[in-house]
Amino acid sequence: MLAELKESVWKANLDLARSGLVVLTFGNVSGIDRRRGIVAIKPSGVPYDGMKAEDIVLVDLEGGVVEGWLSPSSDTPTHVEIYKAFPEVGGVAHAHSTYATMFAQARREIPCFGTTHADQFHGPVPLTRILVEAEVAEAYELNTGRIIVERFAGLDPLELPAVLVAGHGPFTWGRTPAEALETALVLEQTAHLAFGAMALDPRLPPLDACIQEKHFRRKHGPGAYYGQKKEDGHD
Ligand SMILES: [Zn+2]
Repeated sequence: MLAELKESVWKANLDLARSGLVVLTFGNVSGIDRRRGIVAIKPSGVPYDGMKAEDIVLVDLEGGVVEGWLSPSSDTPTHVEIYKAFPEVGGVAHAHSTYATMFAQARREIPCFGTTHADQFHGPVPLTRILVEAEVAEAYELNTGRIIVERFAGLDPLELPAVLVAGHGPFTWGRTPAEALETALVLEQTAHLAFGAMALDPRLPPLDACIQEKHFRRKHGPGAYYGQKKEDGHD
């Protein structure tokens, strides 16, 4: 069932392992079939090396296993909560990548200091609140999803396809599992650059709004023109 979705989720998880964003098995990517309301996700604690496409677990939007002989990732309720709240999202990735996690642990959002950030994220990368004791004691992963959704009140999840969970790490998303992983890579690079910029100048102001807007809008939305001409190699 849903062989194509499982294949794309499997591949994105292998690419995550190869990306250098994760150590051991601390990361996961999922994808959703919107028509059926079924999420495909990495099995819990399985090493990336021997993982096969058939090992990918299918769960419904209540988190119940629909198909698969392994337990789904323990973060599954967080992924499901994101899919339920953000209907355009087709893939979610989670990795404790070093620099993005540093910001999450320091409980700081990532300010936009440059065009690398502005190309991908429309504004600072948001930070959730910290979970309270009762939310940690019961349904921890579900509540992690809930504080992400809570933080996005009034924000467009496709214009800001990443969040930092306070004291934990980032979740990223996109229209597909591959896109969610790509966002995780760009987020890590963005966090690394921001960390360096803040070290060089602790009082550095964010990039001028007009430059932020220019860079975001040329890649996203109706006026986007980035990447249409072959000779545009970079920037
Ligand atoms: Zn985690």
